[in-house]
Amino acid sequence: MDLLKKIFIFILILNSFIIKANAQYKHSEKSYQYAWCAQNNGIAEYINQDKTRIDCLTKTHAVEFDFAKKWAESVGQALYYGIMTGKKAKVVLIVEEAKEMMYLKRVEKLSKVYNFDVEFVTNAILKLDKDGRCSYCKCKCKT
Ligand SMILES: [Zn+2]
Repeated sequence: MDLLKKIFIFILILNSFIIKANAQYKHSEKSYQYAWCAQNNGIAEYINQDKTRIDCLTKTHAVEFDFAKKWAESVGQALYYGIMTGKKAKVVLIVEEAKEMMYLKRVEKLSKVYNFDVEFVTNAILKLDKDGRCSYCKCKCKT
C-alpha cells in the first residue's frame, strides 16, 4: 500500500472516532446554551460586527459554551468575544460526567492568569422531564 493510501485510511479512522465522540453527548450544546442564557437574562446567538457569533451575551459577560473536552477552544473564543464587546469573557463548560472535571481545572487555571470567568453546568439546568428529555425542541434527546 502506498503512503497516500495509508494516510487516507488513517484520516478515515480518525474521523469515525470524532463522530463517536460527538455522539456520546446526550443533549445538544445548544440546549445548555439556551437554558443558561434564559436563566441569566442574556441574548443568545449575539452577532458581532465581524459576523462572529457569541453563544450568550449578558449585561456583564460575553459567554462561550463548550463541552468540557473542548476546553481549549472555549478559552480562545471567550477571550475574543470579550474584546469584541468590551465585556468580561466567560467560559461555561458543560460537564456530563464527573471525570470531566479535570478539564474545568485547566480552564480555571487559565482564567486566573488571563482574567476571565469560568463556571460549569450539568444537565441540572436542562430541567429534564421524567423521560430524561429537555425542553429545547431541537435537542438530540428528542430524536
Ligand atoms: Zn436534550
